Amino acid sequence: MAPVAQRPRGTQDILPAEQLYWQEMTGAAEAIAIARGYQRIDTPIFEATALFVRSAGETSDVVTKEMYTFPDRGGRSMTLRPEGTAPVVRAYFDAGLDRERQPVRLYYLGPFFRYDRPQAGRYRQFHQFGVEAIGDAAPGLDVEVIALGWRWFASLRVSGVSLQVNSIGDATCRPRYREALRDYFRPYLDALSENDRSRFERNPLRLLDSKDPDAVALQASAPRTLDFLCDACRRAFAEVEGGLQQGGIPYVVNARLVRGLDYYTRTAFEFWHESLSGAQNSLGGGGRYDGLAADLGYRDTPGVGFALGLERTATILKSREIGPSLYAIAVDDSAFPLMQQLAEELRTRGVAVIADVSTARLDAKLGRASKMHARLALLVGLQEDPVDHVTLRDLRLKKQESIHRDRVLPRVLEMLAAPPVGAA
Ligand code: AMP
Repeated sequence: MAPVAQRPRGTQDILPAEQLYWQEMTGAAEAIAIARGYQRIDTPIFEATALFVRSAGETSDVVTKEMYTFPDRGGRSMTLRPEGTAPVVRAYFDAGLDRERQPVRLYYLGPFFRYDRPQAGRYRQFHQFGVEAIGDAAPGLDVEVIALGWRWFASLRVSGVSLQVNSIGDATCRPRYREALRDYFRPYLDALSENDRSRFERNPLRLLDSKDPDAVALQASAPRTLDFLCDACRRAFAEVEGGLQQGGIPYVVNARLVRGLDYYTRTAFEFWHESLSGAQNSLGGGGRYDGLAADLGYRDTPGVGFALGLERTATILKSREIGPSLYAIAVDDSAFPLMQQLAEELRTRGVAVIADVSTARLDAKLGRASKMHARLALLVGLQEDPVDHVTLRDLRLKKQESIHRDRVLPRVLEMLAAPPVGAA
């Protein structure tokens, strides 16, 4: 007999073998966000449809083709959330966070839904790590947000990430830029696709991210946003660039990077990855959305944030040959707090640590550590250890030692500095 149902198209099971990567991504997200004063927020999986129609724009692909919209039993139109920013901004005002000390720093992790055509890197249910810093227009906050994303990839040791940044101006300078774009594309209108002709009318900035070959051919010589910035936007962009340079964060100015909606202002950025090709090469992105709150019917309030895709990041983690530097294991519940504390101390010193938070048996945890190609394992709570001691095991040399908990950090740094076996 055939099974009555199959997994819906465009969805995935995250199987036990993959959970470690997910734990690594969400663990790093929480640690990095919390260390910078970002607090977690969870909003409902579905919202009133109007929230997304307004925030994504009635004519956007998301709204016209990709939303999971349904009437509930009371006849109200509901939509499975396709993105996180509009719900977070709604919650910020609903909960009165706008009356607290600004900016309010929030992060979220969870599933999102878009009725996309499923393909590699594109699913109907996918997950994002996002942050939003609301209530402050300072460019330093843009830098903080970008740096947080950058740190996340770094702590996962995802290399080959390219940070692309641009400024798309604001209500003062964008109208002039929009007209310059129209002037540029107007002579070629007949050659453009129907879709691009309607972009020309409604929102010419979107011609810059059209994938249609006729538009793509014209993009290279199109006017650049940066040449049209007003003084205030120009100063803000210089501050963002300065902040990134000061923070040692490499970036590429990409004048083609745009956001198609009016409420986006100034900074726009994306994290690209060399291994992802074509339209799906972005691990995530974000920017400033100073006009969003007012568009949603709230008091004018600036904000900046990003959303990073976990499925695409997981693909890269899986292809990575090197494992974490250290895999931390608590032998029983009572050892858990010390294990977490040591893991955190090591992380702050730049050691990539995965803390096993499961209740699996010790040998199962050690099995995972070697499967993930971890260099060292930290075992907390072994009976044979003297009081206040833990065990450090070198998983390649297959040697272990019992050391005082205060000695863990220097000893780990020492062991990691030694060349791994085989690399002479
Ligand atoms: P966006 O909200 O469209 O800017 O998307 C931000 C990031 O979320 C993208 O760069 C992807 O990594 C991820 N993402 C967006 N849509 C999908 C999807 N349909 N399937 C998988 N990941 C997605």
